Amino acid sequence: VTDNPASAAVRLPSAMFLYDKLEWRDTIKYALKKNLQVWCWISNARWELGQIHTISKDYIDIMLSNGNVHSVSRESILPANPHILDGVDNLIQLSYLNEPAVLHNIKYRYANDFIYTKAGPVLVAVNPFKEVPLYRRDCVIAYKQKLKDSPHIFATADTAFNEMMRDGVNQSIIISGESGAGKTETTKFAMQYLADVGGGGSIEDEVLQTNSILEAFGNAKTSRNDNSSRFSRVVQRETGERSYHVFYQLCAGASCGLKEELNLKAAYKYEYLKQSDCLTIDNVDDAKRFHVLMEALDVIKISKEDQKNVFSMLAAVLWLGNITFSVIDNENHVEVILGEGVTNAAKLMGCGVPNVMLSLSTRKIQAGNDSIVQKLTLQQAIDTRDALAKSIYCNLFDWLVGQINKSLGVGKCCTGRSISILDIFGFESFNNNGFEQFCINYANEQLQRHFNRHLFKLEQEAGSKFLGTAEKPVTRAVENAISILCAIWFKLERLVTVHEYAQDGIDWAKVEFLDNTDCLNLLEKKPLGVISLLDEESTFPKATDMTFANKLKQHLAGNHCFKGERGGAFRISHYVGELPQSFANNTLQPEKESSRFRQSSSFDLQKQSIVTKFKGQLFKLMQQLESTTPHFIRCIKPNSKQLPSMYEHDLVLQQLRCCGVLEVVRISRSGYPTRMTHQLFAERYGFLLLQISSSQDALSLSVAILQQFNVPPEMYRIAVLEDARNRFLQGIVWVQKNFRG
Ligand code: ADP
Ligand code: MG
Repeated sequence: VTDNPASAAVRLPSAMFLYDKLEWRDTIKYALKKNLQVWCWISNARWELGQIHTISKDYIDIMLSNGNVHSVSRESILPANPHILDGVDNLIQLSYLNEPAVLHNIKYRYANDFIYTKAGPVLVAVNPFKEVPLYRRDCVIAYKQKLKDSPHIFATADTAFNEMMRDGVNQSIIISGESGAGKTETTKFAMQYLADVGGGGSIEDEVLQTNSILEAFGNAKTSRNDNSSRFSRVVQRETGERSYHVFYQLCAGASCGLKEELNLKAAYKYEYLKQSDCLTIDNVDDAKRFHVLMEALDVIKISKEDQKNVFSMLAAVLWLGNITFSVIDNENHVEVILGEGVTNAAKLMGCGVPNVMLSLSTRKIQAGNDSIVQKLTLQQAIDTRDALAKSIYCNLFDWLVGQINKSLGVGKCCTGRSISILDIFGFESFNNNGFEQFCINYANEQLQRHFNRHLFKLEQEAGSKFLGTAEKPVTRAVENAISILCAIWFKLERLVTVHEYAQDGIDWAKVEFLDNTDCLNLLEKKPLGVISLLDEESTFPKATDMTFANKLKQHLAGNHCFKGERGGAFRISHYVGELPQSFANNTLQPEKESSRFRQSSSFDLQKQSIVTKFKGQLFKLMQQLESTTPHFIRCIKPNSKQLPSMYEHDLVLQQLRCCGVLEVVRISRSGYPTRMTHQLFAERYGFLLLQISSSQDALSLSVAILQQFNVPPEMYRIAVLEDARNRFLQGIVWVQKNFRG
């Protein structure tokens, strides 16, 4: 309520109000009578800060920063935090937890280049879109030596490392957020830190080096991020976007000798590259990057010969894209046109030209014991050619990952514990959402479930589990006063004994959180889910987008996450679909995608459909994550222009909402928001005691303070935390949310 630091007695309760729905009037009246300043948020077009002037039965007069006084109803304002709380490290420290307060806090920190903020146990990272002095070696050392503990990716990596060493449990750092929010950069900083605490030997260097390989082959420019991590875009993409960096790097940076050997041309000569009208990235020198790439390939010991093979495959993909067809009959059947596309591709793939021509224009159908050769139509031939290109690239990428793992000795020292870092694409919604978005958003639903499970369900289960457990008292001092309750984030295994004295239960507020089970059911339920139905539809030679969309409507209309179909497209309401209009309802248009799944071409390389393979991989990933202690990082994109010092409120709010950050903070405060160690509590408020005996320990002092001021017992809990080995860790006084002293 106040900025006035003179009176601790006034400040104490100010930290203890309930967010949002406080019973405000008495407090405000009291504060105004004492000539204290009371701040609030007024909802105009956007939230604006004002100071309460007078208060009457129905209206409140508010003075805005320009001096104007507005008369508003109670409902149109939210309480603002006192300025002493501006820019707190952890959002749970805010007295008032509402959206404007959270936005303001993150913005305040961001404006001061504090891009990291904790939201309960989650680290929120706002992309600065500029270099910030947070990652130098002295910074690494400061976190390593525990000289610093402010929110930082290094702090999170450090926690993961320490927990792994201390508990012998595998850890995971799960980094998510929208495209361009800073996930990959954050991953690299985490790796930098871990490489350092791990000893900084050659293996750590190798790990860091692999980044440039994975980025060259796995990243591409999109409209939202110049260096976006992608997984399917060899043959087509939106205008203004690029294919994987490595293609442009190869064309720009290959030596004359290599160019000659691969018949390599400039990037603009290739259909696969030129189609999207974007060949370069501002401030990026592809040729230079190619040399960095070659060095990295050397570091992970890929022989020169294998490197040349890698480049040959890349060139083969490019030349495949230049293969064209001519229609030979009135059924639209085609032949491959004999040109430099097919001759170069065949040579690079090590095949005969006639074989390639035949394979791209016909397919074999098994009829009993006989096989019949059927001519392909133009569209079928194009699809076959593109499928081959994608398949070559996909295999090349898998091979590279295998080589990297081999070089790093992954899997060799299986006795060791690990920290996995997951850099995962966030929810996506474009004007045209295709199969790629479907997979991305499906993965995000899974991840969101993991997140929800750990942060909400476990926390709430913990809350209810601890109710009514009766055990022996720990100290006499607290015996009659209070209950002792323990609950701590998701590390339940390390938590402890619970001592519950009072029989009156603890009001563990059930915080509502968005449950995405229905959406996941819609996607993956068998046999009637989008994925199963897509698989089934893909086996029908006559299937089209339209038949698929109709099938979805027929079977899935009962699920409220299925938002109907129209013209071969359909809509799915995702977890993020709770957002305002622009984000609501992710429309998926698997245009042409269904035809790509048809296992019809002579190049029948993918026995499993892509979506099923993806589902399997995702399942494995989630299983792997389940066995780790997770550390969550939510990256936030402050503006859509990739510019520094620009904070778009609505955009940030959407992201905070969609990743459940507000709920996390809320739940972490819904029980007892203000948590202090006995030591801190005694130090801070001990001077208020009328009688102090020097022999009193921190716990007894804390109890004496609470008793002297007649703080009702139901307003606080005293907790004693112990670790798995029953070692006493620390005592915490928790103060109830709506306590008004
Ligand atoms: P994502 O992986 O989430 O799509 P990136 O990690 O590739 O996003 O980040 C996009 C761009 O934002 C980067 O290329 C970089 O320019 C900038 N960026 C992200 N995080 C930081 C950071 N911590 N410091 C400076 N720039 C950053
Ligand atoms: Mg990325």
